[in-house]
Amino acid sequence: MKLRNWLTLGGIALGSVALGTTVKSFLPRPFGTELLYERPVEATMPLQNLPEIDITFLRCGSTVIPECIAVRGSLSLTPRTIAYGAVLIRHPQATFLYDTGLCADIPLFMLDQSFIFSNTVGRFKLEKPLCAHLERLQLQPSDLDFALLSHLHWDHVAGIPDLPGVPLHVNRVEYDFASQGLLEKNQGLVRRLLSNNPVNLLDFTGPAYEGFRCSYDMFGDGSIVLVPLPGHTPGQVGMFINRAHGSRVFLVGDAAWLSNNYAEPATMHPILWSMVTSDDATARQTLIDLHHFSRRHPEIAMIGMHDGQLQESFMTIEQRRLQTHTV
Ligand SMILES: [Zn+2]
Repeated sequence: MKLRNWLTLGGIALGSVALGTTVKSFLPRPFGTELLYERPVEATMPLQNLPEIDITFLRCGSTVIPECIAVRGSLSLTPRTIAYGAVLIRHPQATFLYDTGLCADIPLFMLDQSFIFSNTVGRFKLEKPLCAHLERLQLQPSDLDFALLSHLHWDHVAGIPDLPGVPLHVNRVEYDFASQGLLEKNQGLVRRLLSNNPVNLLDFTGPAYEGFRCSYDMFGDGSIVLVPLPGHTPGQVGMFINRAHGSRVFLVGDAAWLSNNYAEPATMHPILWSMVTSDDATARQTLIDLHHFSRRHPEIAMIGMHDGQLQESFMTIEQRRLQTHTV
């Protein structure tokens, strides 16, 4: 056979392998969702005498990706909104944020970022910066008692420059991990966004809670309970909100970008998953835990910080509830 024929044959073989690998990357990868270990014995916290708590999603920006990228195995090109935002929580003992959305100056912070970063996980459209949300709500940054950061990826700390002096609550595990390199990645983007705000490190020394191995009861009354959701980053924090009126809510940070991720369960497309996940096996286990939790508690709203559609639906129901509550 002539050399040219061999080269053609080799090219076809390589092309077939590449095509096969690409197609396979979009197909579902089954999870073993059976429980491999005993659930921890846990203290049950009373759900009576809970306070009124208002929850408001503050959407600062967004991007759109096809569902097949956000959910492996979906095979749908339906556009899904990936939101960037914060959650304002008004509790009788504190007014605070879960994550911080995007500040007004975020385009300036992104100027020195690489082309690849700016066009993949650093791509977003700024809609309404955090300071504009606070102004509309007639809140000064000083009216906020603190901001709790679900984890230390740039898109969860990017509102901090609009919150001068507001204390930041961070899981100690997350802060220690970030100090080993994450703070300095992308030209020190996270370190610069953290600004000079005081940082308060949290230790999760509370008992197992709702199937999660430990907890942190923020006000000691069972109304705001933090649990670890490791894998996306080592110290990612989820937040249960238990209140007198309105549904119980479980904010899951980036453990699931969309509800499909824990409902199936399914990761994102493997390329995106590997770009944003610190520990593949642990992140999968967390998704499995969330999957089982969602089956046990269909009445609890489990909302990821990028799930634009679910956040909008929640806010519609919440506004309706507040209207009927005040009539
Ligand atoms: Zn994120």
